Amino acid sequence: MTTASLTIQEHHNSYLRELLLTTNAKEQAAYVLCGRTTIAADPWNGYSHHKLISYEVIPVPEDEVISSSTQHITWKTDSFVKVLQTAQAKNLTVGVVHSHLGGLNEFSIQDDTNEPDLVQLAQNRNGSDTQLLSVILTPEGNLVGRLWISPQDAIPLQMIRVVGQIIHLHYPNRGQGVSPTAFQRQALAFGEALNQDLSMLRVGVIGCGGTGSAIAMLLPKMGIRNIALFDKDIVEDTNLNRLHGARQPDADTMTPKVKAVERSLLELGLGVQVRTYQAWIGETSCRDALKALDVIFCCTDDHSGRLMLNRFAYYYATPVFDMGLSIEVSQGKTHNFQALDGRVTVLAPTPRHICLLCREIINPVIARDEALKRNDPAEYERRKAEAYVIGEGNPSPAVVLFTTEVANMAMQELIHRLQGFRGEDGSTPHRVRKFHLTIDRKPAAVPNPNCPVCGVIGAEWWGRGDVVPFLGVVE
Ligand SMILES: [Zn+2]
Ligand SMILES: [Zn+2]
Repeated sequence: MTTASLTIQEHHNSYLRELLLTTNAKEQAAYVLCGRTTIAADPWNGYSHHKLISYEVIPVPEDEVISSSTQHITWKTDSFVKVLQTAQAKNLTVGVVHSHLGGLNEFSIQDDTNEPDLVQLAQNRNGSDTQLLSVILTPEGNLVGRLWISPQDAIPLQMIRVVGQIIHLHYPNRGQGVSPTAFQRQALAFGEALNQDLSMLRVGVIGCGGTGSAIAMLLPKMGIRNIALFDKDIVEDTNLNRLHGARQPDADTMTPKVKAVERSLLELGLGVQVRTYQAWIGETSCRDALKALDVIFCCTDDHSGRLMLNRFAYYYATPVFDMGLSIEVSQGKTHNFQALDGRVTVLAPTPRHICLLCREIINPVIARDEALKRNDPAEYERRKAEAYVIGEGNPSPAVVLFTTEVANMAMQELIHRLQGFRGEDGSTPHRVRKFHLTIDRKPAAVPNPNCPVCGVIGAEWWGRGDVVPFLGVVE
């Protein structure tokens, strides 16, 4: 079986609403060029999956509309052919979005009649494996879609995500479910729809140390079921002070962190399905799982993994909640904190969401050294001896109080983006909690215009999905 889904960048969704939900009471249409990725086997259901990601919205020129009413729209195909040409040149998929002003939340008989002709036209021009996306927008802002594989065969989209400052999900029967008993008290606070949204999400935790294990423990208790854990390390005695779910025997038997955390999650019940990857996140064995995720919590302490996820968030329009803890103690007569900072930074292709390079959170030199150590350990050791690489220093301080709180901050940010409990301007792309000062700061930053990720140049790649090489980076 093959399934399909779509991610729409929030600013594209706003533009589509502006174009299609005009006040002249006539149906309107627009094109959306999409990047894409194909997942060979979804880690949770095993199905192959086509994920499309909006890349560019293109209006249908007004003079091409032949006729339109509250019930229908027909237009000449000149601009469609032009869009097909662009799609072929850039390896994108064409989508057609039209409004249903009466609010019909499904494809009409007319749509079923007309769309196969467009699919045929697309395949005649761009090749027989060309797909065509079709999406309906209703005045309430609901989105429904399908992906045509051939003129006879369309796959309904199992989910449409709108991603930016917010994360809004559209899927069949949203809001009609009743929460399981364990989550009814949560529904009293946030409503049934949030519980249903959470149960649908595929969530990844990259790095299962102090912060990652704390996030992982929260996931089932919030109602998230589809969970992927990534970490190549094993449990050690020095982790037991902060690794939620790990026990002394795990350290004694060198249990992988992902396995210790998985066991604790499964013991909770709550319908969780955990997939574990004892690997570095950049390894190709993790790639399908990574691409299948709707939301990523980044709790790794390696700069090269962060560097990769920093790009991934923008290429695939997959929100990454990056967390960090910085403890700096001056060793005088009394302990004095230079820093005791917990940080949550959200990466997503949307304004104000400045990347980790521009915020100087990733050190590219350390990232390079880490990559060298992984790919060519002998050369790494040689350079370390000659002091060309930074090398590992003393272990950094870590306290469960603070790693756990950072995880809570990140989860709150996710819940707000799904449900909106902080109000319209409540999304916080970057928050630093200074524990020793009992204050939160939200330092502003500007993207470097030349940043290949979040600057003007980088924006060319937002939503591109799969490119060769992966993320446009030659390793
Ligand atoms: Zn229609
Ligand atoms: Zn940047």
